[in-house]
This record gives sequence, C-alpha cells and structure tokens, in this order.
Amino acid sequence: METIDEKRACKTCINDRYIYNNLKNYGKMSECSYCQRRRKTISIKEIAEEIEDGITTEYRQCKMEYYNPATGTYTISTEGLDDILYGVYSCRNDLFEDICSYIAPDGWYERDNEYIGDKEDISAIYNKEWKTFCHMVKYETRYVFFNQWDEDQEDERAKKILEFISKAVEKLDLAKEISPQMRFYRGRPHHAREGAFHSDTQLAAPPACDAKANRMSAEGISIFYGANNIKTVLAEIYNGIDQYATIAQFKNKHKLLLLDLSKVLNMKSPSLFDRKNRDKKGYIRFFKDFINMITSPVNNIPAIEYVPTQILTEYFRHVYRYGCTFDGIIYPSSKNPHGKCYALFFNNEQCINGKDQRLIMDQKTVKTYRLFN
Ligand SMILES: [Zn+2]
Repeated sequence: METIDEKRACKTCINDRYIYNNLKNYGKMSECSYCQRRRKTISIKEIAEEIEDGITTEYRQCKMEYYNPATGTYTISTEGLDDILYGVYSCRNDLFEDICSYIAPDGWYERDNEYIGDKEDISAIYNKEWKTFCHMVKYETRYVFFNQWDEDQEDERAKKILEFISKAVEKLDLAKEISPQMRFYRGRPHHAREGAFHSDTQLAAPPACDAKANRMSAEGISIFYGANNIKTVLAEIYNGIDQYATIAQFKNKHKLLLLDLSKVLNMKSPSLFDRKNRDKKGYIRFFKDFINMITSPVNNIPAIEYVPTQILTEYFRHVYRYGCTFDGIIYPSSKNPHGKCYALFFNNEQCINGKDQRLIMDQKTVKTYRLFN
C-alpha cells in the first residue's frame, strides 16, 4: 500500500487551477493515487505546502495564547484547518483528508484578529486610520496637516492614509480612460415647471460664487457633478422640496483620465492560491468599506461632513500623479443602485463655449422631468 509521502494527485483531482498551475512544473507522468488514471501528477507534499503557503497569507497558525482586546481575555484559537479549507478549497474527500493530515490541524486564526504578531490586516488598519483622519480634519486641523512630518503625530498618519489610498489605486488599477464624446448627464432642481433652466451656463457646473460645499468640493470651488444616466441624476438631486428638474447631456471634448472607484464594487476577492493577485485582497476589502463610508448620505452639517472627501479629491486632483493628472472621479451613487456619479474637475467656464471648453452641452437634450410621481 502507498504511503502518504508516495501519493500523487492529478489536475482533475486537485480541482483548483491556481494550485495546479503553481505546481505543474513539478509534475510527472504517473498513476493518480485518487482516480487511478495515468496523467501528469503532483505529490501530496507539494500540494499541501502550496495550500499552506496560501492560507498563511490570511491565517496564522499559533499554539500560544493571545490577548483578545475585544473580550479582555487570553484565548487559544481552536479554529481547525479543515474549517478554513472548506471555505476556500474543495476537492474529493480522500485527497482533502490527506492534505489536512500534512498541515498543522489546529490553532489557526485570521490575521484580522491578530494581536500577538506585528502584521495586522491592512484593511482593518487603514479603516481605522481613515476614521482618525476624518475626525482630525473635521474637528482639529483642516488646512495645514500636510506640511508637518513629525513621527507619531496624527498629521503623519494623515499623510500615510492618503499614500495608502493612492497605493491601493495603483494596485487595483482604478484609473479609467474615457474617449471623447462620452455622455454625462447633469441636472438642476426647480420649483415651477416652466421658465427654469435652458442654457449651458445655467446647467453647467456652477460659477464659483454659487458653488456650495459638496461631497467632493468645498464651498467656492466649482466642479461638474453629473451621472451616467437620467435616473441617477433624478435620484441624486431629489431634495424633497423641488417638484421638477431640468437635465441636459454633456460630452467631453478631449480624452479624460478618471479615478474610477466604482470598479472595486465588481471586483471579486482573489483566491488565496492566486499568487499573482492574492495581495490585492486586503486592498479590495479596504476599498469596499471605504467607498461605503465616503458615499453614504450625510445627516449632519454637510460643510463639516464632506471635509474628508473634499481633501481626498484635492489630493487626487493636485498632488497625486498617475502618469498624468486625473480629470475627475467616478463613484457609485448612494441613491440609485448601479448608478454612477461623476465629479469632473471642470468649472462653469469649462462647460461653455470658450477657449478652455472641456465639456459641450447638447442643447437638444435639455428636458424637464417631474421629481415627484
Ligand atoms: Zn486524479
């Protein structure tokens, strides 16, 4: 009878393309110990080591007690390897058991809950950092934090969170190039049906003197807020007071480079065994929470609540470089599921006829809609 050290499994029995592809160079022609077909096979030892390598990116194995600040007690983790593996890997039972017998069976815990090591999950760390940053710029210092570089100071952490977010933008490739002539819809609410807004000057980004504090721009700074369709515009500008909204379609004159935060929503978490992409896992997890935080409706004073995202926008507009500068940000609508919002860095003059025109309104598309049904 074959010992476990002599056993080998084929691609079909391994049943995971990442594990197989990572190991296929070690393969040799032999009978598979599980399905008995003669094929290219990999030894159980190599398969188990590859699996252990994958799960240790998310879990750690430790028999020590660790302090759990949530409960204030010392705990020994009893999470079994098979429980972890069930969630991330499936294959035929006999192979699964052989793999488990090769790797330490107990004492695993998620790096998320890791307090004894030095490596905490990045999404958890930077989620906390973003909250600290929000508190600081809302209630402590807003305009000068960037020039102070003292270690251990909150302003140093502020710099780090912005740098972390830009690193995540690169890692997840969130830049999106937009060809000329893409459609952007923008509208303004009004009370009476007739006599409202008709011209590009009225429907464009507001003049600086009328620019109110908004999610991505401070009072006095004019940018173009729009959406990818009329339904999203109506949902976004609904204010419970005005009965109507007039909406127009704008198109970009030149190519644009946008920061597309909405890309993250469709990103699947990579497999633990996908060596090329598994380090994106923490960034994806961070961004999914982060996007929720920065797009949710605000209940308090907008002038204060929007400060963190206004700083973030200015950072991407004026400080950060992704080959060239971003022309705007795409973010998911919090009012219309699947709708996308655009904050384009163009002011009133750049939306009307002139030498610096970047967006062109199509006069034929101007139409008034009812905001209440
Ligand atoms: Zn097989």
